[in-house]
Amino acid sequence: MNYLSTRGDLTPRGFSDILLEGLAPDGGLYLPESYPKIDDATLTRWRGLSYADLAFEILSLYITDIPAGDLRTLVNKTYTPAIFGTPEITPLKSLDRAASTPEGADVYLQALSNGPTLAFKDMAMQLLGNLFEYELARRGETLNILGATSGDTGSAAEYAMRGKQGVNVFMLSPNGRMSPFQQAQMFSLQDANIHNIAIDGVFDECQDIVKAVSNDLEFKRRHHIGTVNSINWARLLAQVVYYFAGYFQATWSNDQQVSFAVPSGNFGNICAGHVARMMGLPIRYLVLATNENNVLDEFFRTGTYRVRGSAETHETSSPSMDISKASNFERFVFDLLGRDAARTKQLFKTEVEQHGAFTVSDDEFANTSSFGFVSGTSTHADRLATIRDTYKRFGVVIDTHTADGLKVGREHLDWGIPMLVLETALPAKFAETIVEAIGVQPDRPSAMRGIEDLPKRFVVMPADAQAVKTYLSANV
Ligand SMILES: *Cc1c(COP(=O)(O)O)cnc(C)c1O
Repeated sequence: MNYLSTRGDLTPRGFSDILLEGLAPDGGLYLPESYPKIDDATLTRWRGLSYADLAFEILSLYITDIPAGDLRTLVNKTYTPAIFGTPEITPLKSLDRAASTPEGADVYLQALSNGPTLAFKDMAMQLLGNLFEYELARRGETLNILGATSGDTGSAAEYAMRGKQGVNVFMLSPNGRMSPFQQAQMFSLQDANIHNIAIDGVFDECQDIVKAVSNDLEFKRRHHIGTVNSINWARLLAQVVYYFAGYFQATWSNDQQVSFAVPSGNFGNICAGHVARMMGLPIRYLVLATNENNVLDEFFRTGTYRVRGSAETHETSSPSMDISKASNFERFVFDLLGRDAARTKQLFKTEVEQHGAFTVSDDEFANTSSFGFVSGTSTHADRLATIRDTYKRFGVVIDTHTADGLKVGREHLDWGIPMLVLETALPAKFAETIVEAIGVQPDRPSAMRGIEDLPKRFVVMPADAQAVKTYLSANV
């Protein structure tokens, strides 16, 4: 399988060529040349597989430049109950039963958040850690990952890369602005290859420093600087697996369809659902849920994609969905436009960069429904009401992002079709809002109790790219 760029670069590249990269050289995103189609017999065969075996089958279709035996080893060591808590890895939890909904549709949560950092990003990042270590050893190279985080991404990356050969992580975070729990998750790591850098500034300043360092191409090359952001194709690919795993748990025949409701930010998670659907997984709706930062809901309602300025970006109680633009969205638009790279480039490079927005044609917009997409927005009040209702009726405590998904998912039930709401984080991560909603502290997994009291390993630095460069040079 080769990969191409959404902006037209057709240089053939294999999976391992793009694994360690971010954007394609022409500024586009990588996608496979085509989506392998899954026939009925294959779907039936996959139905009986364990999560790790299913992951191997799906990844093998897209990764043809890693020997099968090696890929199987990497997958088996990633998707284990020891890391993800249960044999199913992403088990379903039943909420509404068909008899109690007007549409006769069961509603489930699909648990994606039982990994080491209690958010769904572990599902892909844990695999990425093993893939990076493998590929770097194969090439005899090292990689220094530089990133900025305000929460979930940074901790998922650190827990995936800790102790890995050939990889160092330098993670910038705004000093004193993360929740004590999130800060403790990251800063309590004592591994020599993990570097926590608390920047005296806000998240945007952290991101600006990462950009400034990455734009110094000579420095970047000399120090082997890379990233693990959500546009990485391997992350997206790993996420395709749990759409299949969820489908098999909610159905008994390939003639059945399901819908997925996805709390969305950068369009990474739901883009994996789009890939699963393109492969032929019987998905009725891909329900895109946003919070008050409704850039994507607006697109799916109107056909206009308009990025927001920082003054227009809200800080919400589902903070991992607080986005001003959606970095993976170009992948879907490329498919929506019939893979017309010139038009994709015109929309994202010319129109977004010059006017901050584009509008697709009426015909193109009409097509979004044939790709299964529907959408909706959820507010702080909706979040509180949904958390409260779920606790009251089912005795289940859900996190704020998952609540956005559940609220919007229920608005798009279809007759008899199960709705799988992706649980993207555990409530323990966002305790403040849970207490506001139900007056009860959410449970913490036992491994996480008291982590605020553990010794912390971090350095504090001014919001200054040169200071960060000096630190990097001394510690790579
Ligand atoms: C990252 C994240 C999201 C958004 O996922 P995208 O792939 O960016 O759309 C939603 N919920 C939680 C808890 C997250 O950490």
